[in-house]
Amino acid sequence: MGLLHREKNECEDCHTRFSSYEELVHHAHDAHKHHIIKCSDCGKLFLHEKDRLHHVKEERERKTDIRRHKF
Ligand SMILES: [Zn+2]
Ligand SMILES: [Zn+2]
Repeated sequence: MGLLHREKNECEDCHTRFSSYEELVHHAHDAHKHHIIKCSDCGKLFLHEKDRLHHVKEERERKTDIRRHKF
């Protein structure tokens, strides 16, 4: 409903939309036996290696930020 520009968590296989990425990951795993990639750092689950890499990059940048603020 409406034209809310939200992050799209849509299933590639059946085009169902989810309110969170986590829900989409669990759906893809349960319904389509999708291969799931786990972040070795925090255990977060991802559908694609590129998503995990993006997450790892963001986490690294955040940590660098915190370190920078300490100095
Ligand atoms: Zn699906
Ligand atoms: Zn992580």
